Amino acid sequence: MLPTLSRPAPHWLATLLAGAVWLAAGSAPASGSRVLPKRFTRSPYSLMSLSVGHPNNGWQVRARRLREKTYLHIKQGSRPNSYGHPALVLMLERSAHEVARAAPGAVMLVGDLSREPGGPLPGHRSHQSGRDADVAFYVRDAKGRPAKLTHFVTFDGNGRATDGSGLVFDDERNWLLVQAWLTDHRAGILHVFISTPLRARLLAYAAAHDALRAYVNEAAALLHQPEDSTPHDDHFHVRIACPRDQDEICQAESM
Ligand SMILES: [Zn+2]
Repeated sequence: MLPTLSRPAPHWLATLLAGAVWLAAGSAPASGSRVLPKRFTRSPYSLMSLSVGHPNNGWQVRARRLREKTYLHIKQGSRPNSYGHPALVLMLERSAHEVARAAPGAVMLVGDLSREPGGPLPGHRSHQSGRDADVAFYVRDAKGRPAKLTHFVTFDGNGRATDGSGLVFDDERNWLLVQAWLTDHRAGILHVFISTPLRARLLAYAAAHDALRAYVNEAAALLHQPEDSTPHDDHFHVRIACPRDQDEICQAESM
């Protein structure tokens, strides 16, 4: 129940309540109508990329497309789903570039982001509002040489592929990626999903290196195995925060 107000509500409260009512009414996300509150249909919002609703019940407007680079490839089948908020797309490009700078030849393989209009995406619960991306692990072949993936491969806690390919989870380059995410404050990364055994591997790798130890606590807070979803033993899932100034239409987490 809303509190009874004896005085006219201050402007900020009115805005907040209007937003709450709008979201509670469920008119935002998956309702085919896709109606935005009026102020989001005017400048400057009418020129911006918008992330609307929840990651698992939302949509997006004016999404940006992730483009392939020498150091960033898109997984086959994911091209139609390579649209996200620019903050997400640019963050993926920056982090792929940073890993390739530290480990020349490294290529990040990116899976699904969202569809251009957002909304439900087969195979995912979230990935609806342009703030989620799946990223393959960096791997080595059976001889220890860096290898490039074209699909996601599942790894056990010993860092061995479970498909008999002999591929090995590349602790060093996967850590470089986590560190790139930890130090990227522009996109506002909320969390990164990965299986508990692989999370433990990465934290142990950093703890064993003097220069990396300072990042262990922050990395431990960023990386989790989600409780209500697949264990994420074949890719990272990264989610960014709601864009600034969009709290009225954007919900940070899934419902
Ligand atoms: Zn995902």
